[in-house]
Amino acid sequence: MKYSIAIDGPAGAGKSTVAKLAAKRLNIPYLDTGAMYRAVAVACKRNGVDVSDWDAVRAFLPHVDIQVRYTEGGEQRMIADGEDVTHLLRTEEISQGASLVSMIPEVRDRLVQLQREVAHRQAVIMDGRDICTNVLPDTPHKFFITASAEERANRRVKQLLEQGQPADYETILTDIRRRDRQDSERAYMPLVCREDTVRIDTTDLTIEQAVETLLSEVRE
Ligand code: C5P
Repeated sequence: MKYSIAIDGPAGAGKSTVAKLAAKRLNIPYLDTGAMYRAVAVACKRNGVDVSDWDAVRAFLPHVDIQVRYTEGGEQRMIADGEDVTHLLRTEEISQGASLVSMIPEVRDRLVQLQREVAHRQAVIMDGRDICTNVLPDTPHKFFITASAEERANRRVKQLLEQGQPADYETILTDIRRRDRQDSERAYMPLVCREDTVRIDTTDLTIEQAVETLLSEVRE
């Protein structure tokens, strides 16, 4: 396979699940770019930097080292200042923090550069919000994976309950809608679906069906 695969879409639409499975089938690495924005949010939190204060984040940015590593099993790990912070990425606070730091052009430019370096070395499957529009605009394999906000909230509730964590549907739905708004209305590199992008709505699809839809498009 010569070209990388770019996937965009809103939070909780199943992008990463679909991308991970497709990556395995195609035997290429998967890069979760959301994890990179999350790692910046974690680094800010640990250093007492307010994620909604753009000047503070800008001043902090040159002092933090963010790296992506893969385990031997191919699992992505996020390293901030030499420390593996992967286990800290998946909280509602960090989801919101990532959405806020991702509005800052300097943060985006820095992470996009890292993402392009990865794709320059080998074909990858990458998901995020600006992969089709900005990071890999020249790849012919562009996808927009989406689902209704209600379905995404339901999936998140189910996932949290399975992990034995409390989950309130209304709160989660409000958070998802807020993040959708922030991601698609921000001034710099917002989430949009380009015309040359294949749209996959997973609301009524199983994971397997979504993966198959993507792979059959790639094979074509
Ligand atoms: O995909 P995930 O939900 O982990 O992403 C967390 C946040 O990071 C998103 O809400 C979005 O604001 C930001 N993000 C982004 N561009 C990307 C990936 C993620 O702005 N390519």
